[in-house]
Amino acid sequence: MTQHAPSPSVHDVIGIGFGPSNLALAIALQERGEQTGQALKPLFLERQADYHWHGNTLVAQSELQISFLKDLVTLRNPSSPYSFVNYLQAHGRLVDFINLGTFYPCRMEYNDYLRWVATQFSAQARLGEQVLRVEPVHEGGRIRRLQVISRDVHGREQARLARSAVVSTGGTPKIPLAFTPFKDDPRVFHHARYLSAMAGQPCSQGKPMRIAVVGAGQSAAEAFIDLNDSYPSVQVDMILRAAVLKPADDSPFVNEIFGPDYTDLVFNQPETERERLIREYHNTNYSVVDLNLIERIYAILYRQKVSGQPRHGFLCRRSIESVESLDGRLHLQLRDLATGSHESRGYDAVILATGYERRSHRELLAPLKDYLDDFRVDRSYQLLARPELETPIFIQGFSQHSHGLSDTLLSVLPARAGEIAQALELQLARVNLSSEHRRHSTAV
Ligand SMILES: Cc1cc2nc3c(=O)[nH]c(=O)nc-3n(C[C@H](O)[C@H](O)[C@H](O)COP(=O)(O)OP(=O)(O)OC[C@H]3O[C@@H](n4cnc5c(N)ncnc54)[C@H](O)[C@@H]3O)c2cc1C
Repeated sequence: MTQHAPSPSVHDVIGIGFGPSNLALAIALQERGEQTGQALKPLFLERQADYHWHGNTLVAQSELQISFLKDLVTLRNPSSPYSFVNYLQAHGRLVDFINLGTFYPCRMEYNDYLRWVATQFSAQARLGEQVLRVEPVHEGGRIRRLQVISRDVHGREQARLARSAVVSTGGTPKIPLAFTPFKDDPRVFHHARYLSAMAGQPCSQGKPMRIAVVGAGQSAAEAFIDLNDSYPSVQVDMILRAAVLKPADDSPFVNEIFGPDYTDLVFNQPETERERLIREYHNTNYSVVDLNLIERIYAILYRQKVSGQPRHGFLCRRSIESVESLDGRLHLQLRDLATGSHESRGYDAVILATGYERRSHRELLAPLKDYLDDFRVDRSYQLLARPELETPIFIQGFSQHSHGLSDTLLSVLPARAGEIAQALELQLARVNLSSEHRRHSTAV
């Protein structure tokens, strides 16, 4: 593996990841530059060679779980050309979309909207570059540059210099412990890989399969419906610890917690109160399912009862104690949480709709951790750091504990991007000023 010497140019800011968070930032920086006449020059590095928004989960039935008006820009600048409405207009579908009478486009269309925006910023982005780590560049006891090391699709490593960074790398699929020995087994896969992994399964050629879907959230429900609709040769068991599938609360008063103003309210609370707020509204986003999907699943299971031909199973209150591969099948040892009884069930494949963890920022920034305050951030999402670290570093999507439940979602993207763009500009100007001052004092 070759590592190239850092290219001599220094970027104002390197954005890591080019998902919705950094797309919103690219727009905010451009629009701020147009206002102030002093645009910062960002570069965005994205691991995917061809950008898609959760591309392997885009099944036919998946819908956006948030109003299209909470797109990348509207809540910050309703007259921005990068709005979802302008995307519809540019694609000749504005009238048809209005006729649909919905606030919730399908996720395939939203993916297309995000790709449309990404294409307009392609000059600022390098696709197919996975960032491996961000390192400090030491200069006389201070750090005024970051070195961002990435690897391209050919395995070549490259180092780039930046005056600041914004890490927006999203969630990492969570794999329950019992399944970690099967991480390279094509029969066991996280929902994040659903479409590509399913394409390699025998049922895609019409062969019979028994598949377990593990989880009780939106992804598990979407996988169940897609397996039922698209793979007639598949029998599915939904396996969940919970007693029931619970609906996501998206009622209007509750939805107010996803408004940009609510971020201030959460941030200004003491730690224990923030935790309480997050617990109280957990059922807006975690281990919950849109009511219409719950009703569809219930109807499918009910029709089985009417026909007397059971195809799928719904195994609630079950914990998976162990997993074994035997005679070509995966055997799941299940414990009934109500009765304590055990049973073993064999499957040809297991889909883990078990959620995401948010810690990739810690891994990427590990070389800087001695300068950071345990990855805590201020109100404008900047990591708190020792004074020697003169390179502001911001994170997006990793501050739910301090900024509230909207932090990992699309809800606050435009406002957050605007706040970061403003803070970045101020911080970089401040750093410039103090190095000028130091140079001047040394000279006199
Ligand atoms: C299936 C699914 C559906 C969802 N639906 C909704 C919804 O309807 N409404 C809602 O509000 N939220 C939804 N979410 C939540 C989701 O987190 C946000 O929608 C949104 O994707 C957050 O954007 P992001 O840019 O922070 O993260 P991501 O969209 O995860 O983007 C991160 C990007 O960084 C790239 N990346 C990661 N690591 C590296 C690296 N080391 N180097 C370079 N690039 C890297 C990834 O390839 C990716 O493109 C959904 C999440 C999932 C998984």
